[in-house]
Amino acid sequence: LLTLAIETSCDDTCVAILEKHGPAARLLHDDKATSDSRKFRGIEPTVAVTGHTSKLAGLVDKALRMLPKVESNGSAGEGVLFLGSDGLRRKPDFISVTGGPGMTSALAVGLNTAKGLAVAWQVPLVIVHHMKAHALTPRLVHATGLPWPGESNQQQQQEKRKKEAAAHPAFPFLTLLVSGGHTQLVLSRSVTSHTMLAEAKNVAIGDMLDKCARAILPDDMLDQANSVMYAAELEPFAFPELQQQQQQQQGQANKNPYNYTPPRTRQDEIRPYSSPTHGWYLTPSLANRRDMAFDFSGLGGQVQAIARRSDSPPDTPPPDLTERRELAHHAMRLAFEHLASRVLLALDAMRAEKKRVPKTLVVSGGVAANGFLMHVLESMLKVRGYGNVEIVRPPAELCTDNAAMIAWAGMEMFESGELGEAGGEALEWLPRAKWPMEEEKSG
Ligand code: ATP
Ligand code: FE
Repeated sequence: LLTLAIETSCDDTCVAILEKHGPAARLLHDDKATSDSRKFRGIEPTVAVTGHTSKLAGLVDKALRMLPKVESNGSAGEGVLFLGSDGLRRKPDFISVTGGPGMTSALAVGLNTAKGLAVAWQVPLVIVHHMKAHALTPRLVHATGLPWPGESNQQQQQEKRKKEAAAHPAFPFLTLLVSGGHTQLVLSRSVTSHTMLAEAKNVAIGDMLDKCARAILPDDMLDQANSVMYAAELEPFAFPELQQQQQQQQGQANKNPYNYTPPRTRQDEIRPYSSPTHGWYLTPSLANRRDMAFDFSGLGGQVQAIARRSDSPPDTPPPDLTERRELAHHAMRLAFEHLASRVLLALDAMRAEKKRVPKTLVVSGGVAANGFLMHVLESMLKVRGYGNVEIVRPPAELCTDNAAMIAWAGMEMFESGELGEAGGEALEWLPRAKWPMEEEKSG
């Protein structure tokens, strides 16, 4: 099976081609263009839509040239595309596209192009839920690690693949989705069945960290950032020694690179952090409460107020570099411990109800690219008796938005006999800015 996938829910214009054969998959193409909203210091919707509108057709055109060649010199029969001077190529069996959640006008650009391709090529259109695609990404990584039929198996390749294939999240698994627009803890039972266990109702963790980073990072760093994902700069900023160590040791494992001691009990977890030298403190989110929910608004507000001196006397000097690093470190730590605390509550509840505890915790979405987050999660699960739960995350480039994950989710849905979220009504699908994961199909 062959699919061409389009993703335009936010500010990345993404196109991918994925082929699947039995359990194995291979990514024939995975490309993106990101619009530049840096002068707005955050994603600007009109810039995103302009970016999609100007870039998507070109990206699709480029992708078509990566479709598998049809070797025969016969005529363009069924399942074959004729590409001008480029000869005959296999036509995708279906098109996958993000139907939501995301920015309405941004989603519309991808949807309209996908609908056009599906109609022109007379193939099905599969509407994909963006967050489900984030959740299923480790299964894509696993499938692309399996040997492709007939491919020569060089040893190095095999080694790499063995490692990737090991991390195969079989259903059911827990998924922690941490991105720019969502913070969700989900129990994934199948390709389409995902039960929400906890969710952030207000600001998402990625958004909160981006805002904190804008307040914490020195101006020159903000000016030099490669993208508006400012949160990605927080980790190297907070742990400069770690950067150096990693460069020097080149992969040698340091057991506790972040010098982090996980809270051993729930009581430890809900203690505020009090800065020994600067007098401010940070309160953990939903401290003393066991609600199955995430809340990053309080922590985000405190961090920004400290960095900007909003609640300090007017003559207070701005924070120096050491204080900024300390703030970045503990803002991340408290945010990540809050995430872990809800994972632990969910696991404890399953254990108490004598339900099977899932073997895997998938962590996906842009914030999953953060090494400190993975370290905090691993350490906390271990000291609290869940060391056997394997934490799996996709490689960093598949954590943030991409079309490969949309192709994979489309593929899993198509194979399971579901024509995506819209059933046979995909051509009428409208962008859905907000789209809960659990809702029954509306097609
Ligand atoms: P959603 O998936 O909820 O629709 P989105 O698609 O905009 O939102 P993603 O692309 O999945 O979100 O993730 C982007 C977010 O991840 C941004 O907030 C970005 O700053 C954050 N992010 C990326 N890399 C890192 C990192 N290394 N550490 C922390 N945060 C990061
Ligand atoms: Fe995303």
